[in-house]
Amino acid sequence: MDSNLTSRSATNSDNGRQTVVRRKRRLSCLDFSCGRTFMSEYTRSLHMRTHQPKTRYPCQMGCSETFSRQHDRLRHEVAKHGKQWEWPCTRCRQFFSSQATRDRHKCSNRASSSLG
Ligand SMILES: [Zn+2]
Ligand SMILES: [Zn+2]
Ligand SMILES: [Zn+2]
Repeated sequence: MDSNLTSRSATNSDNGRQTVVRRKRRLSCLDFSCGRTFMSEYTRSLHMRTHQPKTRYPCQMGCSETFSRQHDRLRHEVAKHGKQWEWPCTRCRQFFSSQATRDRHKCSNRASSSLG
């Protein structure tokens, strides 16, 4: 056993030159198109609220879908559940969920059907 390996380890005298990359984990916004990053999950959750629409319209026909617009919900309810739209406009042939909505809408087709 005379393996006297005199391995001269080349001592690189560059001690302390290691660039310590502080890679703090940044959380990116869940909305891909937003691209913002956050230091903590809490900050992000606060920010995520800005992406949330304020009012959601849940489907009233039994399923758990929600919609950001009343009109979208209505369309869903009609398409998925066969709901009858009760308030059609006779002029523009749009349908509305309530009489108030129908009366308030800006009828795009103001034809010459002048009543009274
Ligand atoms: Zn965002
Ligand atoms: Zn539904
Ligand atoms: Zn109309």
